[in-house]
Amino acid sequence: MDTLITGGAGYIGSHLADRLLADGHSVVVLDDLSTGRFENVAHHRGNPRFAWVQGDVRDAALVARLVEQCDVVFHLAAVVGVGHVVRDPLRCIQVNVGGTEAVLAAAFARRRRVLFASSSEVYGKSDRVPFREEDDRILGPTRVPRWAYAVSKALDEHLCFAYADRGLEVSIVRYFNSYGPRMDDRGYGSVVARFISQALKGEPLTVYGDGHQTRCFTYVSDTVEGTVRAATRTEALGQAFNIGSDREVTVRDLAEMIRTLTGSSSPVVQVPFEQVFGAYYEETSRRRPAIDKARRLLGFEPAVSLEDGLKQTIRWFEERTISPQSTQRTQRE
Ligand code: UDP
Repeated sequence: MDTLITGGAGYIGSHLADRLLADGHSVVVLDDLSTGRFENVAHHRGNPRFAWVQGDVRDAALVARLVEQCDVVFHLAAVVGVGHVVRDPLRCIQVNVGGTEAVLAAAFARRRRVLFASSSEVYGKSDRVPFREEDDRILGPTRVPRWAYAVSKALDEHLCFAYADRGLEVSIVRYFNSYGPRMDDRGYGSVVARFISQALKGEPLTVYGDGHQTRCFTYVSDTVEGTVRAATRTEALGQAFNIGSDREVTVRDLAEMIRTLTGSSSPVVQVPFEQVFGAYYEETSRRRPAIDKARRLLGFEPAVSLEDGLKQTIRWFEERTISPQSTQRTQRE
């Protein structure tokens, strides 16, 4: 296949690029480097099946040109991360909705297949756990900026289904708390990245709220496997799938696991949500996917245990901490 990955220099996108190239496909990465890093894909320079384009996914002319040259578009470019969204909800809405419209319109006009990366955030604060693909979604008031992300991704899904009704070949994956090497630890990233980075620096691990909230942390190779299957299987057309682990873990337990695995003596401290996100904030207290649909139609099965995935991720953070100069150099090249 000739593929295009929007957001391909990001954490998940770059692992997807590795996988597609390893499988013998060609990959064009489009990324604006707002949160992605060139160093995530720099190791593919010189590979004739790899091409790099820096640009904005809302640039309709650019996107149309790139879509023209590919068979399948993996649309991952988005403003993600609760911290990001809370800080700049306008940008989140504009990039997530504008970017997806640009990609879908281009793919529809040229009859290309699309994989859209959505999020478990679309289920909002529903307490009907586990979340099933056809369940109702429960979101809080629009005054709470966090929900702008859920709404933007849900609108993107509506766009996908609307184009599918007109004949676009499209599939949707809803990611559940993916983690792994290359995650961003610059403050707004995943809790896994933050805890590992804090533990390795000997800083306190900051548990927000009481730490009883749960998530299902999914190692990136499993996230990528589900993505590739949903993008290529005929059974996946016109469907949305939960892609994630179904092992539910509290944030406090995650903190303890990371302390143990890093051998860190950092204390675990509780930080009130308001202190981090301001007055207008709501939290998802439990999040777990039902994955029987992905199992049935995609043959998807999460394969990496949380312990093994955390060990791999910790190793990556340790290597990066040892040679930060080489990392920065690569980024500037
Ligand atoms: N969290 C935390 N400490 C941190 C960062 C996040 O306790 O330093 C919590 C956060 O409140 C949420 C969970 O960890 O309950 C997962 O947060 P993340 O931002 O990774 O993803 P989310 O599931 O909120 O999209």
